[in-house]
Amino acid sequence: MGMKLVVIGGVTGGMSTAARMRRLDPKADIVVFERGKNVSFSNCALPYYLGGVVEQSDDLILMTPASLKRQHDLDVRVRCEVTAINRDRKTVTVRDLASGETFEEPYDKLMLSPGASPIMPRSIAGIDRSNVFSVRNVGDVVAIKQCIDQVESVAVVGGGFIGIEVAENLKTVGKRVALIEGMDQVLAPFDYDMVQILHKELDDNGVELHLSSTVTAIGDEGVTVSTPQGEALVPAQAVIMAIGVAPETELAADAGLEIGQARGIRVNNNYQTSDPDIYAVGDAIETYDALAHRWGRLALAGPAQRQARAAADHMCGMPVSNRGYIGSSCLRIFGRNAACTGLSEKAAKAAGYSYDSVLLFPSDKVGIMPGSHYMASKLVFEVPTGKILGAQAIGAGEVDKRVDVIATMVTMGGTIADLKDLELCYAPLFSTAKDVVNFAALVAENVLAGRMPQVHVSEVRALVEEGAYIVDVREEGEFARGHLKGAHNIPLSQLRSRTGEIPRDVPVYLHCRSSQRSYYALCFLRGSGWSNVSNISGSFLGISLYEYFNDKALGREPIVTDYNCN
Ligand SMILES: Cc1cc2nc3c(=O)[nH]c(=O)nc-3n(C[C@H](O)[C@H](O)[C@H](O)COP(=O)(O)OP(=O)(O)OC[C@H]3O[C@@H](n4cnc5c(N)ncnc54)[C@H](O)[C@@H]3O)c2cc1C
Repeated sequence: MGMKLVVIGGVTGGMSTAARMRRLDPKADIVVFERGKNVSFSNCALPYYLGGVVEQSDDLILMTPASLKRQHDLDVRVRCEVTAINRDRKTVTVRDLASGETFEEPYDKLMLSPGASPIMPRSIAGIDRSNVFSVRNVGDVVAIKQCIDQVESVAVVGGGFIGIEVAENLKTVGKRVALIEGMDQVLAPFDYDMVQILHKELDDNGVELHLSSTVTAIGDEGVTVSTPQGEALVPAQAVIMAIGVAPETELAADAGLEIGQARGIRVNNNYQTSDPDIYAVGDAIETYDALAHRWGRLALAGPAQRQARAAADHMCGMPVSNRGYIGSSCLRIFGRNAACTGLSEKAAKAAGYSYDSVLLFPSDKVGIMPGSHYMASKLVFEVPTGKILGAQAIGAGEVDKRVDVIATMVTMGGTIADLKDLELCYAPLFSTAKDVVNFAALVAENVLAGRMPQVHVSEVRALVEEGAYIVDVREEGEFARGHLKGAHNIPLSQLRSRTGEIPRDVPVYLHCRSSQRSYYALCFLRGSGWSNVSNISGSFLGISLYEYFNDKALGREPIVTDYNCN
């Protein structure tokens, strides 16, 4: 008999550890304890059972204790909760939830992968009602489905990745869905300017978005929210709570293991806790934010699996590399795909970086190809080094491919010069000869070199309201269909003959549809002696998408005569 490994938690990190250990050591005695009814299920696919994309709940379960025994000789015991770690005896105390019996199991090495539990604040009156759910395991979505089959309206509380996926799936099956979020935006890893595109997409598809709204009570009629305007009732017959997760650290803390500043189990470079025979991975630990240079927490499946593999390797005496995390994620919201990696602009600011960003709307394929669409792309970089800090992309096409390229760059410490020269695949059906990411680097390089002074879409409302001199260089027909109030239309094709109209004594702001033509105009004017011209980053597409949802939600005066969001 080889090493005795006991694993607590039988899903992402736990099962990855057990499987890796089996590959490394055919003789190891491996026991996995899981509190729930199932192991090895796809947490990430749970919302898609609600929308019918995954038709049977059993399809969510990838392996069973029986198949794990047959294929990998793993001793997997479900409905067994570990209630204590007895470090002095090197055993765990286990309660068999079916029989009620308690027993001790010895270990040589112990892996903690207990995950994180959905936050269900006791301060919310009515949180214990039978129509209030959270989404963590297969049993949860089965219960939700049974309930929502009987109701028309559902409130989803929390605009993070899980809340949005749940909201989208419930809308797809015809429910009236209210999405309630305490912050002024959904999806915190995205910047406020980018996320407006997603606010519009949710709104366009009939999800009632309640931002800056904190749930205070749940009752017969629905959910009571506190907003800056006062209290309001959001009608709902069922409520799904998705306001975040709390790492399951109780077992570790009770055993005297170190809990870190970010409230996760503290581990070292090899994923060992403060007891070298006890390892921990996944949502329960805190890990190193490689960009913000601090300890943080990251509830994502890919990192949990990588950590599990590294920990099992270390248990077997193999060298381990722990690069910390940069945080990469993606999701679909109806017709838009969205992805992000590394630091957003606000995260770069919070981390104390000297940084800048560019926002652009290049085409994701050659324009005459079927399915071609703009891809809103934001690149965040350090000033003056040009080191890439992060990126966000939203579009109808393959945003994950673009963001993955940049995630690779971030991981390797790449700069915008590296990204500019990156040689990527090209054929018209797939991308453009200069891909979206190359474009982003080219624009960033111009900004960094001072060749392209810019203002951001978030600054345009103030410019319009103060009567700034804005030149729209789109053609007259485009201008007629919608433009910034007070803007001057001097199409690029007429610019050379109409320079007399452009003042030299006040700042001049240029835009077109996507900033391609306005960049040409900027080059021409700067080359002709204008020293006071700036480009509006993101141009009219960016302005329209940035303004649209707030104009509608707040009922405020638009700064455009009409929007162009397509
Ligand atoms: C709905 C949903 C969608 C998601 N979508 C994505 C996605 O698209 N992309 C992505 O990267 N990540 C996604 N995640 C996050 C990802 O699933 C987690 O980061 C990952 O599963 C964490 O792995 P883990 O092993 O730490 O915890 P888990 O996979 O949650 O496993 C922990 C297990 O430990 C068990 N356990 C806890 N305490 C004990 C105990 N004392 N005794 C026995 N068993 C115990 C729990 O019952 C649980 O089953 C999603 C999560 C959810 C819930």
